[in-house]
Amino acid sequence: MATVPIAVHPSAASLPSAVRAVLTRLTPVHFVDRPKLAEGREDEIVLSLSGDPAALNTLHARPARSFHVTQVRQAARTENPGAPIQFVPDPQLDPLLRGRSIPHWALPELSAVPTQPGDVVWATCHDSPIWARRRSGGCDIDLVSAPLPQPTATEQVFDYLNGYHFIQLLPLLHFLRDVTAAVQWTLPPLRACLTFDDPNLHWPSYGFLPYREVIRLARRDRFHISFATVPLDAWGIHAGAVELFRENPEHLSLMIHGNNHTHEELGQSRTAEGHARLMGQSLRRIVRLEQTTGLKIDRVSVPPHEALAEGVPAAMLALGFEGVSVTPWSLRHYLRQRAWPPTFGLLPAELTDDGFPVLARDRLVADCVGPAVLAAFLGKPIVLIEHHQAVAKGLDLLSAAAQVVNSLGDVQWRSPQAILRSNFLTRREGQTLWIKPYASRIGVPIPDGISALAVARDDSNSSRGFNLVNATNHTAGSAVQVEPEHPIPVQAGTTVELVSAKLGTLDYRQLGSPGSSLVALGRRILCEARDRAAALKARRPRQIINSQ
Ligand SMILES: [Zn+2]
Repeated sequence: MATVPIAVHPSAASLPSAVRAVLTRLTPVHFVDRPKLAEGREDEIVLSLSGDPAALNTLHARPARSFHVTQVRQAARTENPGAPIQFVPDPQLDPLLRGRSIPHWALPELSAVPTQPGDVVWATCHDSPIWARRRSGGCDIDLVSAPLPQPTATEQVFDYLNGYHFIQLLPLLHFLRDVTAAVQWTLPPLRACLTFDDPNLHWPSYGFLPYREVIRLARRDRFHISFATVPLDAWGIHAGAVELFRENPEHLSLMIHGNNHTHEELGQSRTAEGHARLMGQSLRRIVRLEQTTGLKIDRVSVPPHEALAEGVPAAMLALGFEGVSVTPWSLRHYLRQRAWPPTFGLLPAELTDDGFPVLARDRLVADCVGPAVLAAFLGKPIVLIEHHQAVAKGLDLLSAAAQVVNSLGDVQWRSPQAILRSNFLTRREGQTLWIKPYASRIGVPIPDGISALAVARDDSNSSRGFNLVNATNHTAGSAVQVEPEHPIPVQAGTTVELVSAKLGTLDYRQLGSPGSSLVALGRRILCEARDRAAALKARRPRQIINSQ
């Protein structure tokens, strides 16, 4: 695939290697050394990292795009709250950023960009310009003061490009996307889902979450909400609760929350067979729940307490789970022995064993603008999570978060499984549609003018193979094996499915039981009773006031 050369002054090595690796994966660029700016071709795109004002003067005379960082020294990263970054409503700025004020962790020693008349300031911090665009000799220079990050041995580039800390890399990524617009991959559409862990179908509410009211708000304020339900809770089903899910699939869905919901249940070390038995039981219970209720439950699991052990992803994929959803911080914490790729946390999903995807989620808060904007900017789905206690004072939190997310553009609110099935990048090359899947099963509508589909080789070490199925007409031939980089004929106007060859190869019905769940059941009933009692207790004073 064609890549755009970017001349780095003084040298490509002045970009930290992890940052270099990330940028070449997120954008179609390659970096070349440019020790002396005067010696390069006049029209080459320049990334100027020396911080030298003389270098900036040289850029002024050139007719090509360039990016100049004015500050070189970096203070240590902090996770203390700092001043927000204020973006101006300039039409040349990405629409996701325009006019927004986004909270940012503290940026000690950040200086201002030295602007001059005619510069368009794009972002400020503490009212000082930190990102500006200068029109010089008919060509634009991006000026930023935030130095590029130098991740330490325990950090990743993700630590500098997330919803809470982003200004050291966002402007450069914005610039590289801009200069490679003609050849870059197309990101998936904006997608989002609000999620709550623990609710079940025992009653049309769970703790502080009254389902009917949640649906009313979801319709009014446009959002989808998915509950991660515990398979052990698949008993004592309330017909009214089931009805609410059946009648409102566009706003309400269910996914799977572990199996017994014991402490860090999926984070415990077990044999491969032990993991498979546990997850097999979870699936058995979910299938039974589907048969009892007629509902469809997403094959996406949320590990209790976000704990995930080595071996679980492979077992889940084999059993037919299409993904898990946890925060990137938990994923990194529990699977800390892994050599994660430099792009950790920056792609539409994190691919683990055999390409099993982890859908990143973030905290559901009213002011979710940072995580929402950064996820959208990176092409990641916006998945926000909380527990019922978060809405103890009312459901306004849901409306407030949905309002922030809906302000980003045309958001497709979907269940986590539907999000995963649309989780891929595309690029057209003649009549071939290239695909980079970030899921174990995706549905690809074939647009007009396309006669072949090819899966790009990905950067993960996983050995990924896909089978292609015609989803529009299942009878038209069986699955075709897809080798990376080998185009397969497809028909415009149809939808094809790419299904991981490792998905669902193990029959959960053939697996033995992982052991007795009686203790877990007792604990689960107590937890549920506590959650429901908390909501009842909180409601009682209001009822007394109303009756007076
Ligand atoms: Zn839970």
